[in-house]
Amino acid sequence: MARRKIIAGNWKMNMTPSQALALVEELKPLVVNPDVDVVYCVPAIDIVPVVNAVKGTNVEVGAENMYIEDKGAYTGEISAPMLVDAGVKYVIIGHSERRDYFKEDDAFLNAKVKKAIAAGLTPILCCGESLEQRETGVTMDWIRLQIKSDLAGVSADDVKNLVIAYEPIWAIGTGKTATADQAQEVCKGIRDLIAEIYDEATADAVRIQYGGSMNAGNAAELLAKPDIDGGLIGGASLKADFGKVVNAGK
Ligand code: PEP
Repeated sequence: MARRKIIAGNWKMNMTPSQALALVEELKPLVVNPDVDVVYCVPAIDIVPVVNAVKGTNVEVGAENMYIEDKGAYTGEISAPMLVDAGVKYVIIGHSERRDYFKEDDAFLNAKVKKAIAAGLTPILCCGESLEQRETGVTMDWIRLQIKSDLAGVSADDVKNLVIAYEPIWAIGTGKTATADQAQEVCKGIRDLIAEIYDEATADAVRIQYGGSMNAGNAAELLAKPDIDGGLIGGASLKADFGKVVNAGK
């Protein structure tokens, strides 16, 4: 089955609302590719202006985070129904920065995945190993643990629509990319795990991205691998280079 590629930018805590609008305008002619889903995951304060600015284009908007309750006394949080009402389609869940700095554990991330799906959002579920884990040979054990816990109780049909991002922590924001073979090996391992937990059809449908210093120079090689269905891109999503990543598969 041919899976549609998905290239998503993760803007992190960058871009004020006015900077966000300028970036959207700059990227507009550069990110046109009918064969690829293009997503900008933006800071909460940029969601409404960016949703308006991308109307009529091929770009969808994602959030970088959300809370597990629909509404109530959770000062500072944003719920899945709020995101949906604002026009958001995707939400990043379990980015290593949130796991690390904000101590989000797998039980909490599992609740987020379920809440996002129930609200009609597509989770971009992140997983990935530390340098120490890679060097001690436990990469796949760790990732299997993360995915199994984060998807506990999620149905095969919902997993088919999910996006999983394999992001080795040692490659995020460091300029160090996993080699295309390293990235392929883990992405295939994740697909095999999905087949093991669910079935072949689900494994065949789920889209698996690579993330970690992906840029205009290395995207084509990574995206040519059979189990890499796209990229989650931090630094390079904030400049014109992002257009080259979107079109790297051409
Ligand atoms: C990320 O934050 O998801 C990421 C992959 O960042 P970078 O591309 O900057 O390594």
